[in-house]
Amino acid sequence: MNDHLETYEVAIIGLGPVGSALANILGQFDIKAVALDREKSACHLPRAVMFDDEIMRVFQSMGLAEKMKGITEVGGGARFIDADGNTLVHWPRLQVRSPNNWYVNYRFHQPDLENILREGFRRYPKITEKWGCSVTNLQQNADSVTVRYRESSTNSNKSLRAAYVIGCDGARSFARSCINPQIEDFGFHEPWLVIDLLMKNPQEVESRESFHFCEPERSGTFVFLGKKRKRWELRLNPDDTPEEICQPKFIWPLLERWISPAEAELERATVYTFHSTIAEQWRDGRIIIAGDAAHQTPPFMGQGMCAGIRDAANLGWKLQAMLKQGAPDTLLESYQLERYSHVKEYIDLTIQMGHMINRTASAIIAGNATDPADGPQTMKQLMPSLGPGLGVGSSQLIGSLFPQPKLQSGKLLDEEIGNGFALITSMSFQAELIESDREKIEKLKVAFLSDAMVELESWFKSHDIGAVLLRPDRYILGIAETSSDLTGLLAFFKTTEET
Ligand SMILES: Cc1cc2nc3c(=O)[nH]c(=O)nc-3n(C[C@H](O)[C@H](O)[C@H](O)COP(=O)(O)OP(=O)(O)OC[C@H]3O[C@@H](n4cnc5c(N)ncnc54)[C@H](O)[C@@H]3O)c2cc1C
Repeated sequence: MNDHLETYEVAIIGLGPVGSALANILGQFDIKAVALDREKSACHLPRAVMFDDEIMRVFQSMGLAEKMKGITEVGGGARFIDADGNTLVHWPRLQVRSPNNWYVNYRFHQPDLENILREGFRRYPKITEKWGCSVTNLQQNADSVTVRYRESSTNSNKSLRAAYVIGCDGARSFARSCINPQIEDFGFHEPWLVIDLLMKNPQEVESRESFHFCEPERSGTFVFLGKKRKRWELRLNPDDTPEEICQPKFIWPLLERWISPAEAELERATVYTFHSTIAEQWRDGRIIIAGDAAHQTPPFMGQGMCAGIRDAANLGWKLQAMLKQGAPDTLLESYQLERYSHVKEYIDLTIQMGHMINRTASAIIAGNATDPADGPQTMKQLMPSLGPGLGVGSSQLIGSLFPQPKLQSGKLLDEEIGNGFALITSMSFQAELIESDREKIEKLKVAFLSDAMVELESWFKSHDIGAVLLRPDRYILGIAETSSDLTGLLAFFKTTEET
């Protein structure tokens, strides 16, 4: 064994949005990590254009929400329109704050978002970034993984060692190939032309809605991106060739019903094949995959990157618990269990949306929209719970995201409780606690909060419970109805230490 290797607690492969988000989370948890990307510098072409309220809450936890606000526009809903202009489905996405206390839809230019994430992880001296470094081999033993990579600046092969490797290396993931899982294929694979336009005369727009043109001849999507940019995504027909269709002489005639070259300049046009897949295994020992490496979804709901950032949030605190607090690495078994069904719900609905847009299957977005008897269906925001993983007890609330109300102090809940575990109680539950309960909570270093703010109190009332134990990623780990249930709830910490 080469004992002079650089050694890290975690190696992240890939500094796309998911790897960069994970680097922020690990940095915040004081984990010594290295992140390698095969590109010489970050110059990702914009793919993702929207994220949701939960992701803004994750950015908030990284201390980056204010910066993100500066580069985003709040997006409106989406309409699915047929060739005659009738609305088939309306997805309203209200312009009010959600229970996460952020808006349900933000639009952005991906390079701006990635810049903020990179500036974010550079705040942490224990995060090392290595660009122009393509990972070529992963070899694990009982204690660590040796990461071999090709460094383009020196044209040489190098190695480093890490306790865990997280492959955030995208759809063609090398890390995934080391795990070598079966790939579950949900059957949606389509080439689409993605066109980004820069407006010559940026102006405030009347509507912030996006439109899906459900037309069998050529289905398409218009995405509101703010004043400066507009995006169209158009499905390729069997006789189109990707090289040809990306040329301006083909693009402008396709867009002429909406916009002309007098109004906008072509910033970029490229063909992406949208996929719908999930790897059946996300971890082999110390090698784990996240983001597009683990799952891919067509972009109609704007959820691929969001799902990857949720993976990072799920993994980050578990790695911290293992590396800093001695939790057993069986904790990682919950990662795929929890994330799989969550991401699958988004993929399933996105595929239905794809069929709707292409008019290739049922005209009903089943289970997620109201009956269309007298007009358009109305689509609801999807809010899945985590799959069965960590939890204390059997409440239906376990694995759901706890809201983030504003407290009496004017602070948001997460600002008050920080980034660790938290016990939140109703005022009456708090009043019932005896001294020994308080001592237990204090000993565990779990943030403890009750607040008379109406929103919080009415949440406890509506669920008829007195307390919730939150994980660092703000999902509910367990509940207590009365103070006599508290010992059982806090026993979670004992079992994680012992297992
Ligand atoms: C047209 C389009 C629109 C989309 N719109 C949205 C949207 O609005 N909202 C949304 O949430 N999602 C959207 N998505 C999906 C989103 O873009 C992806 O889910 C997201 O970019 C995945 O991020 P990632 O970090 O997992 O992977 P990537 O962004 O692919 O990053 C992977 C990184 O790994 C590096 N890498 C790869 N192999 C190696 C190696 N061997 N060694 C070192 N480095 C390596 C690469 O250089 C790259 O930097 C869209 C996708 C498309 C195609």
